[in-house]
Amino acid sequence: MKNMDRNERHEPAAEGVGGPACNRPAGWDDIREATFNRGEQGPAYAIAKPVDQVACINCFMIDLDCGILDPNVVGEAATQSADDLYEKCVCDWLGRDPVLAKAEVRNTGHGLHILLRLDEPIICAGDDARRWDKIARGLRNALPGDPNLNGIIAMTRPVGALNSKYEPARMVTQLRAGQRVSREEILDLGNRVATAPARLWMQVLHGSERVSPCLLCGEEKNSLGVAGNWQVQCYGCGRVNAAALVYRHYSPEFLEKRKGSKNG
Ligand SMILES: [Zn+2]
Repeated sequence: MKNMDRNERHEPAAEGVGGPACNRPAGWDDIREATFNRGEQGPAYAIAKPVDQVACINCFMIDLDCGILDPNVVGEAATQSADDLYEKCVCDWLGRDPVLAKAEVRNTGHGLHILLRLDEPIICAGDDARRWDKIARGLRNALPGDPNLNGIIAMTRPVGALNSKYEPARMVTQLRAGQRVSREEILDLGNRVATAPARLWMQVLHGSERVSPCLLCGEEKNSLGVAGNWQVQCYGCGRVNAAALVYRHYSPEFLEKRKGSKNG
């Protein structure tokens, strides 16, 4: 009787063919590493925590995804291979900022995890986790990363683990070890993103506060430069919100999809 009930509900048998392996939840072999609490490793469903259950922050993370970038801006190779994305773009971007220069970088299969590891964990009590989550969400705007990434509850992938999202699975590699950063360095970077992003983005993404030809209109005769904390300016384009410096890195398809999901 019991067996019949189970078969009618189309549940897998407990033993034999179609047994234990099929009972594993989806994603059981997709191993992540928490950037919070004890840095646990395991499937996302087993180690994920809501923000208010974070007692300790070890690391801040920015996620760069090859698949959402514009080949006309970063180059075709960087949209196909995370190693190329690192060598052709990200290595320069990180090197131009004193805090980002200390990041550990992992190739996670089709993207890069930029990890800012703390020299001492930040212990959270009361509202601390929510406050730091806001800072973590701000930090990721320093680079054209995945805008949907979580803040302090972000998960990376352990070096040597297999990313089974791909067929065949791809091994996670460390592209550079990086150095530890202090809480003050995190706050400094967060503060620069929040209060003077125009300067930060020009410096990090282009190595200068003025570039020619203008990145936005492409006119040889025009240069684009920082105009205050939030804007950049060119004779042709006028004053433009500095966020355009980041947004121009995303592929038109990604921006369209994002617009669609926001409106819907
Ligand atoms: Zn222009």
